[in-house]
Amino acid sequence: MLDAEFFRRWMTATATSVEREAERLTALDSPIGDADHGSNLQRGFRAVVAALGKEPPATPGAVLMLAGRQLVSTVGGASGPLYGTLLRRTGKALGDGTEVSEERLAEALGAGVDAVRALGGAAPGDKTMIDALVPAVEALGGSFAAAREAAEEGARATTPMRARKGRASYLGERSIGHQDPGATSAALLVAALVDAAE
Ligand code: ADP
Ligand code: MG
Ligand code: MG
Repeated sequence: MLDAEFFRRWMTATATSVEREAERLTALDSPIGDADHGSNLQRGFRAVVAALGKEPPATPGAVLMLAGRQLVSTVGGASGPLYGTLLRRTGKALGDGTEVSEERLAEALGAGVDAVRALGGAAPGDKTMIDALVPAVEALGGSFAAAREAAEEGARATTPMRARKGRASYLGERSIGHQDPGATSAALLVAALVDAAE
């Protein structure tokens, strides 16, 4: 079973990965965006860690809802509301129990991903974070490590895609040949589950 402490570790492990990979995320956002994805998420996850440290929520759902609110309020740009929605909706779907099963997390994350799709209108193949998140949710029924592999593979698979959502879509054909920054950061979020479980 996974408790609030596990979810806090998930968020802090994501923040650590974002700090480590911020330059790469911003570099990926340079040819097909506005070169701010790393700094956007850095600002957001610093706020998440600060908020969780101030008054640690007692339940898994409350941890993710607080984290999502921080992302919405501190990240300018498309990724703030999208990641904020992902975490808030996943948190809401976890309910108010003090522990949740891995199966419950997989279901809840599925609901979170559906909410991101409803908000942003992106489908698989549109070259967005959805391309990492959808395969991760499918693989999460297996193990965290399987979900990490699926998310990383999903992020790599965005390279030959033509962007149909977000800033990169303005480039049309010229978006082809570059890995999507949001799919790359989504893979960091999923990989952090493995870190949190260690
Ligand atoms: P901005 O484009 O506003 O500068 P970021 O650079 O922080 O925001 O985030 C860009 C990422 O957001 C993209 O790489 C993509 O993965 C994701 N994204 C953009 N629009 C959408 C959308 N409509 N649905 C899902 N993801 C999206
Ligand atoms: Mg950007
Ligand atoms: Mg921007």
